[in-house]
Amino acid sequence: MIPVNAYAAQTKTSPLAPYNFERKEPGPHDVLIDILYCGICHSDIHQVRDEWGGSIYPMVPGHEIVGRISKVGDAVTKFKAGDLAGVGCFVDSCRTCPSCLAQEEQYCDNGMTGTYNARDKEGNPTYGGYSTQIVVDEKYTLHVAESLPIEGVGPLLCAGITTYSPLRHWNIGKGHKVAVVGLGGLGHMGVKFAAAFGAEVTVLSTSASKKNDALALGADHFAVTKDEATMKALQGSFDFILNTVSAQHDYNEYLNLLTLNGAMVVVGVPPLPNAVHAFSLIMKRRTLAGSLIGGIKETQEMLDFCAEHNIVSDVEVIKADYINEAYERILKSDVKYRFVIDIASLK
Ligand code: NAP
Ligand code: ZN
Ligand code: ZN
Repeated sequence: MIPVNAYAAQTKTSPLAPYNFERKEPGPHDVLIDILYCGICHSDIHQVRDEWGGSIYPMVPGHEIVGRISKVGDAVTKFKAGDLAGVGCFVDSCRTCPSCLAQEEQYCDNGMTGTYNARDKEGNPTYGGYSTQIVVDEKYTLHVAESLPIEGVGPLLCAGITTYSPLRHWNIGKGHKVAVVGLGGLGHMGVKFAAAFGAEVTVLSTSASKKNDALALGADHFAVTKDEATMKALQGSFDFILNTVSAQHDYNEYLNLLTLNGAMVVVGVPPLPNAVHAFSLIMKRRTLAGSLIGGIKETQEMLDFCAEHNIVSDVEVIKADYINEAYERILKSDVKYRFVIDIASLK
């Protein structure tokens, strides 16, 4: 067994605190990764606080993992010791259902195995990247280019793929007017990708102070959604809206900003259901859709695209003992634009 230092939540109300546990030795198909950095996703907060239900404790969160491989199993062919590697939101899936065969393992009919807050095939809880090491099957491990600034790579594994995948699925590019709602971890990556794909990008934000950042990230326009006159003026403006909002809000207000045949794709997961009025959809034959992270193949494609176009997340690197404060700041939309834990601070 491999002793691991980590940060964990013991209950839904307790702050995260140091925690030690053991990982199994890598099997024939596994790689052992010494974690360098792990991003903090808003999903970590939702799950630590059991806002979606069914949380498993103790919980070691973290699914934006980047590190260096220190050991590989006998049957591993894709990686060798010394390689940089990434791990995202899941570490296994059934491998045989239509979604898995289509390389969209995130939609596995039998449920993918989350990197944390899940149970593996033996029924043991999975523990995530707020930890010094992780053991993962090579099939669910990603190659990371040496050329990118490594602190900014972790968030690509969740915030990156979650925004890249729907933009690709909906063929967003030149000639499209795109709005990104919420300029947080996901939102800032959505802006970078939509701009890189050639779309005209508007950031719709509750925080007027984020205007200059939005434009620097690649947006063409910025609007504050709390301003009623602005929202009225924007009605019918966008072909595509990427909604990354983490808290309760009214979908109808944003659906009304779509043009004829426009689509809003929801990636943010507020804890409670949202009431959508039929009129918001029928008036301009609009679509409301959702999207969940991305499969391993597409995640690798996204990482390769980032390496080619020099795209990483804008990050604030923190030590592990700052995690609880970071959570509070995320809840106040006060992060530029992703917290990333320097795992050296756990050693
Ligand atoms: P984040 O960094 O906290 O960003 C969320 C942003 O939403 C905030 O920065 C804020 O932007 C905006 N916002 C917050 N409260 C709002 C409100 N009441 N009304 C309108 N806007 C509000 O969070 P994140 O890590 O990007 O995650 C966003 C959501 O996506 C979370 O719910 C997370 O669980 C979910 N998620 C989903 C997937 C998936 O596969 N679908 C993957 C990862 C995460 P402004 O200051 O600009 O308004
Ligand atoms: Zn995430
Ligand atoms: Zn499957």
